[in-house]
Amino acid sequence: MGSLSSIRCRCGHRIRGRDVLQRGYYLSNWEPMYVYLKFRCSNCKMLGEKIVDYGDWDDAVLEDGETAPQVVRDRSQRVTLGPITVAEVQEFGQRVARLRRADVEALRRTTA
Ligand SMILES: [Zn+2]
Repeated sequence: MGSLSSIRCRCGHRIRGRDVLQRGYYLSNWEPMYVYLKFRCSNCKMLGEKIVDYGDWDDAVLEDGETAPQVVRDRSQRVTLGPITVAEVQEFGQRVARLRRADVEALRRTTA
């Protein structure tokens, strides 16, 4: 398995197999040296290109499923944080319920 965890667009969106338009291999002495990808980001619709060392490449990088390295890393982070408790959910609900219209507007401005 390669050391590469994911292919990302400049916007930060993760590129998956269905976003890849073209895939090729650069050969040296008939050995693959680099993997070339051309993709269209499904988030920002921009075209992008990526060249990856063949030694770092793993087809799982482009997969959606649980086997993708990115997903595994996320899962370990979740374990460190621990499961979401009922108390946390209730606290979140109370905080949302206390939000005033001005707060929502302020939040919208910071995330825009
Ligand atoms: Zn993008």
